[in-house]
Parts: sequence; C-alpha cells; structure tokens
Amino acid sequence: MTFKQLNITEPILRALGEKGYTDPTPIQQQAIPVVMAGRDIFGCAQTGTGKTAAFAIPIIQRITGAPTAGGRRDIRALILTPTRELAIQIDDCFEDYARHTSLRHSVIFGGVGQKPQTDTLRRGVDVLTATPGRLLDLMGQGFIDLSRVECFVLDEADRMLDMGFIHDIKRILPKLPQKRQTLLFSATLPPAIESLARTMLHNPAKVAVAPVSSTVDTISQSVYFVDKPDKKTLLLDLLRRDKRDSVLVFSRTKHGADKLARVLSKAGIGAEAIHGDKSQGARQRALENFKTHRSRVLIATDIAARGIDVDQLELVINYDLPEVPETYVHRIGRTGRAGNAGTAYSFCAEEEKPLLKDIQKLIGKDIPVSRQPATA
Ligand code: AMP
Repeated sequence: MTFKQLNITEPILRALGEKGYTDPTPIQQQAIPVVMAGRDIFGCAQTGTGKTAAFAIPIIQRITGAPTAGGRRDIRALILTPTRELAIQIDDCFEDYARHTSLRHSVIFGGVGQKPQTDTLRRGVDVLTATPGRLLDLMGQGFIDLSRVECFVLDEADRMLDMGFIHDIKRILPKLPQKRQTLLFSATLPPAIESLARTMLHNPAKVAVAPVSSTVDTISQSVYFVDKPDKKTLLLDLLRRDKRDSVLVFSRTKHGADKLARVLSKAGIGAEAIHGDKSQGARQRALENFKTHRSRVLIATDIAARGIDVDQLELVINYDLPEVPETYVHRIGRTGRAGNAGTAYSFCAEEEKPLLKDIQKLIGKDIPVSRQPATA
C-alpha cells in the first residue's frame, strides 16, 4: 500500500516523498483512514512504529482542508505528551509533513522561559504540542484557549500515568469541547489505561501493532556457527563483503568492545566502542560520529546501547549472544524500524548453543543458519 492510496493530499505527499517515505507503516495503514473518518482511536503502539505520523498526517490534512472562517487561528488540535524531548519530536513531525501547507504549529514545555512560547501563541497556532505542566500554567495565565479544539491526542499515555500526570490530565480534559475527536496512544495497556480510555473515548476504533517479540518477523535473521577464536575473522569478512552503512555490533564485555574497535580500525573500517567505562562525553562523540556516518560501525554493550536511538540502522551483529533471550529481541529490534527491512547476524560458538536454543524458543522459530563467507 502507498500513501497515495490512503487519499493523502498532494502537499503532504510531496513532503513525505522528500523525507523518502513512500509506504505507510502498519500503524499508519490502520490509523490514518480511521482518523480521517473522524473516529476516536485507542491505539497500542510503541515509539519507532511511525505512530506520530499516523496522527500528524490526518490532522494536517483535516485542518488545512477546512480553514477557519475569516482566517482566525484557533488551537484546533492539541497533542499532550509526557516529556520535552517527545514534544519537540512531535512538533518536528508537523514541521516536516506540513511544510508545503499553511498550517501553523508550535510546541510548549517547561524548564525554559515562557516568553518565546507566549509570543508564538499570540500570533495564533492551529496545532499545539504540549507537556501537561506548562500547558496548565499558560492556560491559567490566559494565553491558551482550548474551547475550539477539534482533535485531542494523548500520546504515551502509560508513561504519562507513570510520571504522575493523571491529575493534570483530569484538569485539562474539562477545558476541551465535549464534541471532539480523541486519539489515545499507549505502548502498554495496564488496567489504569483501559479505564482512562473508557472515560475519554467515544466508541473508539482499536488499532494495535504487534509487540516487539513479533515485529522481529520483519527482520532477516541468520546465525553463523563459528569457533570463538574465529569470530574476529568472520566479522571482518562480513563487514568487507556487506556494503551496508551503520552497523551496530553487540559485545558481551566492555573489554571485548574496545578490542573489536581496535581490530576493525586497524583493518580500515571506521569503528568506535561505547560502554559504561567511557565518559559521557566520549560516548556522545562516538554516537555522533556514528549518526553522521563518520564511523561505520558502533560496538556496544547492552547497557550502553539502551540510549542509542539511530534511525535507519541497517544491520545488527550479535558478536556474542546475549544471556537473556529477550535481549536478543531488543537488540535486533533496532534495525528494521518503521517497517523497513532490517538484517541481523548472530555469531554462535559451541558454548553459546544453549543460549541460541532459548532465543529460538522465545521467538518461536529457528533462525536460519548461514555458512561462513570464507568457506562458502
Ligand atoms: P515514531 O514511532 O513516530 O517515533 O516514528 C519512528 C521513525 O519512523 C521516525 O524517525 C519517523 O520519521 C519514521 N517514519 C515514520 N513514518 C515512516 C514511513 N512511512 N516510512 C519510513 N519511515 C517512517
């Protein structure tokens, strides 16, 4: 399916094309037609699935398709999200997808001066993305009127509750018009979210994308049986044959990660290691070099890898198999994001075979075996 088939209008299609997006992700395929039809949504989707565009695209289309009479700028869509980082990311999406339209959007969050935010609000915005505290603050000061909101999005609802924002949400809800569209997204569905959904949503369409353990199905996986001392040669061989950029290699130990970075660099393959013994500055530099393609390979331990958020990771290599099978799913879930095909190779030495067995049990299938390139 293409975005065009979802009846997305030309200016947005053009913006999507410029980002290199042609096909909607599964959550976008499910949610966009429902949001366009004006229905409420109860969505279960994690970050990385493309959920932001799933609500941003139809919101842009609706607002730009039916301008307010007299060109007045009222807040017609409100997106509430728990953190400043998420708020900025969401507003960036509106910037990207609405760039060929006349939509005005803005973002407010706490921890910074309010003047630039209130200046923008005074000029009028169609779409406001906000964190709860600053929103209530500026509402209290009379800078924000929510009485003309047509579409309300509660993003990352489970995190919102974890962070103690439930009372803020309950204070904001009555300021919104009764008659409105509400979209609620949550990565998990604990009972507290189910009951919040019952109070907020009217006859919602449920949309869900598969949890991480089954999204690994879209990733092409293979395992190499290799003697431990031969892993280095195998890695070098694979990296020389495989021309892909942005390769994340997982090492069980910090020492191993450093050693691999040295071996690869010596062989002329740009590589850096990140792990807990490196300073925050050194880690950030390594990550930046990787993101900007100055280095092709990043070698990480599991703990250090947690903070890595890199778009378009093409290949993940498990140099060592993880002790905990779920870790395998998290590791390889870093490739193949947003419906793109990803690839994961795993190296398995004789003594790691029990670990492989546990992983295969968890993902419910056998990982195809590849032969070493050198002997192929
Ligand atoms: P999200 O789950 O909204 O945080 O999005 C995850 C990532 O996927 C972001 O970097 C988006 O820019 C990207 N993305 C969203 N939609 C698509 C698409 N249809 N095709 C490719 N990438 C996308």
